[in-house]
Amino acid sequence: MYLNKDIVKEGNQILKNKSAMVSMPLSSADLNCLKGLYEYVVISSVDELVKQYDIRPGVGIAAPQVGVNKRMFAMNAVDFLDEKESHYLFAIINPIITYKSKELTYLPGGEGCLSVDRSTNGLVTPRHYAITAKCSIYDFNTNKIKTVTLKLEGYPAIVFQHEFDHLDGILFTDKMYHPNDLDKNIFPLYEETEE
Ligand code: ZN
Repeated sequence: MYLNKDIVKEGNQILKNKSAMVSMPLSSADLNCLKGLYEYVVISSVDELVKQYDIRPGVGIAAPQVGVNKRMFAMNAVDFLDEKESHYLFAIINPIITYKSKELTYLPGGEGCLSVDRSTNGLVTPRHYAITAKCSIYDFNTNKIKTVTLKLEGYPAIVFQHEFDHLDGILFTDKMYHPNDLDKNIFPLYEETEE
């Protein structure tokens, strides 16, 4: 399992490389890496475990962030804008985005990343509101891989695009804007409310 010390930080060339496709069947090294990524996002969602392992919690983590330039990532996003609070927990291999909506959106508070420790001061990263992606998914319950087509929108789509960008050597900080400088038809995913 990966801990804080294993996370590659902004400035490291590994995060800028374009990652290679993962060969199938998975090598044991690739499977171990994917398992570690998956465990990281699962543990991140349990407060006691976050304390126990002393990790910085994250809803997504990509292989380059642990020093492996392979096209794999794990995400564990709860869609907080969905009444059902649908859960998007996946260990993803070789994703291909086959559709991107013209509609763009952004997280009003800006994005965060395990590899970026600085504050991004209200800058935001535009993302496609909806995407479709073809990918292989590793099911850690059955230890089987299946090929799926994921249709995502809103928050889970943003998380997916953030992780996908890591595979192409792109950080969210590479495409940040002040909300006032964005095209008028790019809308925040939700209105921020004052607590
Ligand atoms: Zn990231």
